[in-house]
Amino acid sequence: RTSLTVADLVAWTQRFRDLMVEHRAALTELDSAIGDADHGSNMARGMQSAVEKLEQTAPETVGAWGKSVGMTLVSSVGGASGPLYGTFFLRFGASGGDATELDAAALGAALRAGLEGVLARGKAEPGDKTMIDALGPALDAFDAAVDQGLEAAIAAARDAAAAGRDATEPLQARKGRASYLGERSIGHVDPGATSTAYLFDALATATGS
Ligand code: ADP
Ligand code: MG
Ligand code: MG
Repeated sequence: RTSLTVADLVAWTQRFRDLMVEHRAALTELDSAIGDADHGSNMARGMQSAVEKLEQTAPETVGAWGKSVGMTLVSSVGGASGPLYGTFFLRFGASGGDATELDAAALGAALRAGLEGVLARGKAEPGDKTMIDALGPALDAFDAAVDQGLEAAIAAARDAAAAGRDATEPLQARKGRASYLGERSIGHVDPGATSTAYLFDALATATGS
């Protein structure tokens, strides 16, 4: 495979929803250690709403898909993660625009636009113990592997997101609720970095990468 269709993006959304529902309790458990114990329910509810919206109105372009998923997350999730993931999908969609397929380079650019949106909205920096610490390494790995083709780049991104998630454990949180704990946030994996690792796991599974 050399490109993703809008149907593949919908399959990615559904797979991510499945993982958020499956791991809802574990994500909430992570958030109970350094937050307010709602990350699993926030993400499961938000992604369930996003999938229902896609089933009501099937998007025909990358931009329409990103707008649908992003707007639904922003409006249905009250926590920090709703606006942040919402911005990711909105910016991803805006990058794809009227396209109906994304090749590896276009997917890399759309993912990068999504990351830039999260950075602009949340003002987190690498190492602040947030979803950025899975997203950033995933995109760097994608870019480094893109010459090997779409599936290799997605697989590399999935592995780097998981490593980035694991690497949040010894970090002290500097953004979001976990930052209120100061040094007591050390020694716990970040919930948002964990859901972001699932986002790339879902992309790999949905595309057979
Ligand atoms: P809330 O903290 O509002 O309850 P969630 O529990 O759903 O929201 O999401 C928490 C996750 O959001 C954190 O684990 C972290 O990864 C991410 N996060 C919080 N603030 C920021 C930020 N400013 N930039 C990037 N990610 C953030
Ligand atoms: Mg929370
Ligand atoms: Mg909350």
